[in-house]
Amino acid sequence: MSDQIRVRFAPSPTGSVHIGNIRAAVFNWLFARHEGGKFLLRIEDTDLARSTKEAVDKVLDAMAWLGLDYDEPVVYQTHNAADHLAAVERLLSTGHAYKAVKESVDPATGERKSGEVVLFRMPREGRIEYDDLVKGHMRKKAEDTQDFVIVRSDGSPVFHVANVVDDIKQGVTHIVRGDDHVENTFKHVKIFEALGAPVPKYAHLPMIVNAQGKPYSKRDGAAFVGDFKERGFLPEALFNFLALLGWAPGDDREIMTRKELVEAFSFERCKSSPARFDLKKLLWMNGEYIAAQPPDVFKAELSARLAAAGLPSAPLGCGLDELVPPVQIRTKTLSDLPGNCEYFFREDIAYDPAAVEKRLHAPGAKERLLAFADAFAAMPDFSAETTEALVRAEAEKPTPDGKPVGMGALVHPIRVAVSGRTEGPGLFEMLALLGRDRVVRRLRAAASL
Ligand code: GLU
Repeated sequence: MSDQIRVRFAPSPTGSVHIGNIRAAVFNWLFARHEGGKFLLRIEDTDLARSTKEAVDKVLDAMAWLGLDYDEPVVYQTHNAADHLAAVERLLSTGHAYKAVKESVDPATGERKSGEVVLFRMPREGRIEYDDLVKGHMRKKAEDTQDFVIVRSDGSPVFHVANVVDDIKQGVTHIVRGDDHVENTFKHVKIFEALGAPVPKYAHLPMIVNAQGKPYSKRDGAAFVGDFKERGFLPEALFNFLALLGWAPGDDREIMTRKELVEAFSFERCKSSPARFDLKKLLWMNGEYIAAQPPDVFKAELSARLAAAGLPSAPLGCGLDELVPPVQIRTKTLSDLPGNCEYFFREDIAYDPAAVEKRLHAPGAKERLLAFADAFAAMPDFSAETTEALVRAEAEKPTPDGKPVGMGALVHPIRVAVSGRTEGPGLFEMLALLGRDRVVRRLRAAASL
């Protein structure tokens, strides 16, 4: 084992896996893979009320979905209970811990009870110090610390002792976790020393915050790994995004493969200032990953989602293969499918009411739609090129005030009329894919909306 780097992800299963927690797993994993070390998974399941099988499965599913493979069998903290108590006995016998009677209030009944607890003895003078690979040298005056409970009156060891004892047992060399644990680390360093174990190196990762600088939570939108999966994010995109929450490669790269991330990762490039969760950036990144999928993979995804939505498997006016490229490059999340391209598959399209108001109820819009319907119907050849030439020529014509009509006054109403939406593939490509008859019909129908 000697020099080998060993890190672990040690979540307490609570129901759903917060992205802040899984980010710690990503950083542990990247570090282990970069260093050729071992990445371990320890489930800290001592809170029996919350650590249900379901909660544990969510952790395992999140890890599998993000491709965070671990190198040794999962360790369950509850299985180490005897080690925790044995360590407490040692701390008692070496004078690092002592028993005391403590009063407590039963949260269920409100009853006051007294019971014997075990406390860890913190130093009275000097400083407690450790080097943090992200935050630098950390120190705290001993007089600012207090002895703390390590065994409750019901005989159960608390987090601090279980966490440290397990890290010793697993030979963990580097502890990589969120900086909400910084205060705990001053305690843990002393427990390692008291147990005669080498103190691991620490890397405390910066908090993830929202646009207002407040801790990122479910009120900010998707906050749990399962939410991102459900909303059609690709695991590779989320992985890439999480790797950049508190770390950067030092050049201007943002889209990086897993291999590139592993190669570039180091704690020197980790930031200690809070990492802002930028959903727009994640959407952009996800769109890039979707655009880069092999077309067949994207097509299969689209087909499955069309079937689930009860839509036909082929578009109305063209082949599915023709539709895939323009839709694929504009899809930001898989759950946009088939909504963002529904109008290619059904005649009774849904109109976005705000777009109708703005584009179709604009002065003169109705007349223009009817005029284009007639002009398109009369064209000898209906294609992206010919429709574009026709619309451009119309856009050049002067309005009563002398200025040209302009493309905007024409393309927006046409787009809304034929698709019901304000966004989609290039308008002329879209017209060609829909086909002349359908376009003409929709323009006429939209004129009376
Ligand atoms: N179970 C703790 C947590 O999830 C462990 C933290 C750690 O030591 O990594 O916050």
